[in-house]
Amino acid sequence: MDFSTPPATTELLAKIRGFVEERLLPREATILGQGFAASDAELQALRAEVKALGLWGPQLPTSIGGLGLSLLDHGLVSELLGYSPLGHYVFGAQAPDAGNIEILEKYGTPAQRERWLDPLAAGEIRSCFSMTEPDNAGSNPTLLACAARRDGDEYVIDGRKWFTTAADGAAFAIVMAITDPEAEAHRRATMIIVPTDTPGFRLVRNISIFGHAGGGYDSHAEIAYEGCRVPATNRLGPEGAGFVIAQERLGPGRIHHCMRWLGICRRAFDMLCARANARELAPGERLADKQIIQAWVAECRARIDAARLLTLHAAWTIDNHGFQAARESVSLIKFHVAEVLGEVLDRAIQAHGALGITDDTVLSFFYTRERGARIYDGPDEVHKMVVARRILSGYRRRAAGGGK
Ligand SMILES: Cc1cc2nc3c(=O)[nH]c(=O)nc-3n(C[C@H](O)[C@H](O)[C@H](O)COP(=O)(O)OP(=O)(O)OC[C@H]3O[C@@H](n4cnc5c(N)ncnc54)[C@H](O)[C@@H]3O)c2cc1C
Repeated sequence: MDFSTPPATTELLAKIRGFVEERLLPREATILGQGFAASDAELQALRAEVKALGLWGPQLPTSIGGLGLSLLDHGLVSELLGYSPLGHYVFGAQAPDAGNIEILEKYGTPAQRERWLDPLAAGEIRSCFSMTEPDNAGSNPTLLACAARRDGDEYVIDGRKWFTTAADGAAFAIVMAITDPEAEAHRRATMIIVPTDTPGFRLVRNISIFGHAGGGYDSHAEIAYEGCRVPATNRLGPEGAGFVIAQERLGPGRIHHCMRWLGICRRAFDMLCARANARELAPGERLADKQIIQAWVAECRARIDAARLLTLHAAWTIDNHGFQAARESVSLIKFHVAEVLGEVLDRAIQAHGALGITDDTVLSFFYTRERGARIYDGPDEVHKMVVARRILSGYRRRAAGGGK
């Protein structure tokens, strides 16, 4: 088994690492302190630098101005970008736009591509994905209630959504709505593009999370769709195909998330080690001299490296054998890497003492923003259940067939 990366990828990764270290890390504290919305001009200037270096859109196909990387190569890039909370945004690889670009690329009509995909891929506008509802369990999306009624050449959407990430300032939402309540459960929903200036689209609030409502890209909104009328030509893909398209959106998205989380793990681990080496508990005695801290360092390293191999293998499987072959691995990484992330962040914070929970380091930003990792894109418990069922039924099949 060859674990080396091809020379072209190694060269690309070196350029991206250099940009993150030299251009993003020095600005990070100021930009995060001001917030994404207030830092828009500076963020756009950084994006222009990335474009000028030919590094924009690592995950985008070349046909829409990106680097056209494989999932495996993009995973390696995503890890580097995750080192800073600014990375994905500045390189045009941020969720939820990355996922929306993928489905617009696959299902968009020529008119939809021109109006929404092209400016989105170029970073000129932002978008959001509006599926989860406050009154229904998001872990069972067949319970969705938001409805889109066909009226002539239009859909009329009514319902309430929440946790629509980055809706504040987005140009459009891709809304998951029920178009046929009588259909079989997984054929009831349809994706519809709703420009956010459509009458009847109402951003109720940016939801306060751990005391922070955020703004602009760094926010999660509650949205009311109140008689919201859009042309039927805004439908994305066939009617009733909402769940199929949502699954396609989530597959590569989970690799992107996991590698981003591993980038965060690497940052937290670097900080843990630096702090352990620097902090004196008594003259001549450092935190790093304590066995309990040494155990944290060893355990974190082992968990990060193991999670990384699991994730890269899942990406490789999708690239080479398709998503179906990687279903089990994708569920495994979703909960495993999210747990490793929580653990590594917690250890790094603990090693920093009181400083760890202040906003003087980036750790608190990561901790508050990423606790959701174990909840979004399917809560950990659901992924564990799905994987365990598949594994157990495989054992049952083999037992029934007399095999091992
Ligand atoms: C930071 C963040 C960003 C998000 N961004 C978006 C977005 O952009 N667009 C969007 O539409 N949604 C978004 N979401 C919503 C997310 O997809 C849902 O929160 C998720 O699907 C879970 O749904 P729920 O919150 O309704 O929890 P519920 O479905 O009510 O589940 C609550 C808890 O119950 C447990 N549980 C659930 N099912 C099972 C089971 N089968 N067995 C055992 N235990 C179970 C889990 O612990 C789960 O956390 C985001 C969420 C977060 C936290």
